[in-house]
Amino acid sequence: MDCLTTNVPAPEEIDIPALREKYRFERDKRVRVEGQEQYAAHADHLTQDTYEHDPFTPVIPRDSLEEDIDVAILGAGWTGILAAYHLTNAGVTSFRNIDHAGGFGGTWYWNRYPGIQCDNDAYCYLPLLEEMGWLPSKKFADGKEIYDYIQTIADRFELREKGLFHTLVKRLDWDESIKRWIVSTNRGDTIRARFVIMAGGTLSTPKFPSVPGIHAFKGHKFHTSRWDYEYTGGEWGNPVLEKLKDKRVAILGTGATSIQAVPYLGKYAKELYVLQRTPSVVDKRDNPPTDPEWAASLKPGWQAHRQENFLRAANEILPRDQPDLICDFWTEINRNINGELDAEGKGPITAEEFWGRREVMDFRVMERLRRRVDAIVKDPATAEALKPWYRFMCKRPLSNDDYLDTFNLPSVKLIDVAPTQGLEAMTEKGFIAQGVEYEIDAIVFASGFEVTSDLRRRWGFDDVVGRDGVSLYDHWADGPQTLHGSMTHGFPNMFFTGYVQGGLNGTTTLQFGSQGHHAAYIITEALKRGVAVEPTREGQDAYIKRFNEVAADLSSILNECTPSYFTNEGEKEAKWFLFRGWGLGWDNWRDMMQEWRSAGTLEGLELRAESEQVPAE
Ligand SMILES: Cc1cc2nc3c(=O)[nH]c(=O)nc-3n(C[C@H](O)[C@H](O)[C@H](O)COP(=O)(O)OP(=O)(O)OC[C@H]3O[C@@H](n4cnc5c(N)ncnc54)[C@H](O)[C@@H]3O)c2cc1C
Repeated sequence: MDCLTTNVPAPEEIDIPALREKYRFERDKRVRVEGQEQYAAHADHLTQDTYEHDPFTPVIPRDSLEEDIDVAILGAGWTGILAAYHLTNAGVTSFRNIDHAGGFGGTWYWNRYPGIQCDNDAYCYLPLLEEMGWLPSKKFADGKEIYDYIQTIADRFELREKGLFHTLVKRLDWDESIKRWIVSTNRGDTIRARFVIMAGGTLSTPKFPSVPGIHAFKGHKFHTSRWDYEYTGGEWGNPVLEKLKDKRVAILGTGATSIQAVPYLGKYAKELYVLQRTPSVVDKRDNPPTDPEWAASLKPGWQAHRQENFLRAANEILPRDQPDLICDFWTEINRNINGELDAEGKGPITAEEFWGRREVMDFRVMERLRRRVDAIVKDPATAEALKPWYRFMCKRPLSNDDYLDTFNLPSVKLIDVAPTQGLEAMTEKGFIAQGVEYEIDAIVFASGFEVTSDLRRRWGFDDVVGRDGVSLYDHWADGPQTLHGSMTHGFPNMFFTGYVQGGLNGTTTLQFGSQGHHAAYIITEALKRGVAVEPTREGQDAYIKRFNEVAADLSSILNECTPSYFTNEGEKEAKWFLFRGWGLGWDNWRDMMQEWRSAGTLEGLELRAESEQVPAE
């Protein structure tokens, strides 16, 4: 089937300077001076008392462990699993995946809310499809199918017996005398590990708003990443929420999770209030089942090829002679540009012209998406409030066929909390918006996760103490300092993953996997040579200098985006940026790292024999 361009308004139909103005107005209306500090501190989380509780798997008491291993992988989501996979391939077998979940899965273990699916092409997103000889049943796979797939990977690579679950890591201390990390847990374990891979996830610590009166509310409350099917009725994979039929429910937040859950809450609850500060982009879903003919036609190497195609079609420049294999809302802007260039009979254009056209197409696509709201939502005021006024990638773009239509149900009401920059207050009985109290029985927090906030609140470890007794929280007080986004000076044998001064790929799991691969390489080398490794200060500084030199200019995003976790809630001086990757692009990054490994010299790292003393700084 041909991948078609979309029907967007012509450039003359939109007034770009006026839209820019409007975008800034909508941003300014929402930016709060507290930035990321507007959210409840970790210690004040509503679920703090239950944070260590797992609603899905009973916690079985066990004796504390005392053991020595080569590698402690902190986390058992995709990143931790891929690190384990690469270690296994490299011949390292003495490792553990430690996780406070009750099993493998990470995001896909904890998030079981109704309607959960991945939001981008699962043929790209789900790693190891070729190795596993498996395909998801549809383009945007269900969360449960992803979880089940993860279990087959854990079995296939014999990871299960290495998992240490329902175990929350509390602190990490480097013991220089034995050159081991001491991993302390809430189960009283002492695990001495030569290496630690930090795979605790980017969206794993639930975040809550700091709303006056939030603790006074006497009704039921839970976070979407701990969905309470006991309360709502139904079950994971079969979300018939029949217990809500006499309940008045509010859901706070209108991001990726909410868009998937709202159609179910709207269908079953007696009344539903959707508390929205910033509307999401919601396009049509188009989620066809996997075509067996297409599946049969796939040739070895197809997944890497598809992932590359996605990266270019969504974020970079898709060469005109390459088809858009992904062909969904993520790739619409580039697809339309290429279609227009073909129609104009234009030859190759410069990168400058491409990015200029991309900006204009962004405005046109967003206008199409706003018109889509008008076409679906019957009440004009509700439709107006549901329109996204920002550039396409300011907030995670979404697709769902039922979300907007849910607002046509008489039992569903959109509560716009933008004028008060978030929910005004809660009371014993419900919430207050623009001076009116709404009584409810339950509130569901679809308020997301700590993503780029202060490291301590995000990671939640009591401490991570390196070679000189320095806390990583202090060491990185002004933001991450790394070599290749992977290791930091003063913290030997410790590897970082996620979005830390490194490459950046549209297929997140490709990035996480490459980080695991890189760590596995260094660990294997260090084990072979019997050394501890850490970046030299010079090596690290040189990398950071280069990283900053080539960094992309994010100012247009910060100027024209409404606040969200994509933009550090509008903090211009933020220390962490989610999408600040290697400015020269993924291919450059991948090749640079490959060359670094191929050289075999571990350039920029200092190797110390186990018996060697720390050199004076
Ligand atoms: C609902 C949802 C949908 C998503 N959909 C997509 C998508 O479609 N496409 C996409 O690219 N990305 C998506 N993401 C992002 C997703 O988080 C990543 O794609 C990926 O799953 C992250 O894997 P991870 O292993 O890095 O982290 P996680 O999956 O979050 O795993 C980290 C694990 O570490 C554990 N952990 C953390 N701290 C500790 C500690 N102190 N002690 C013990 N264990 C700890 C956590 O319990 C967790 O299980 C989605 C995220 C969410 C929440």
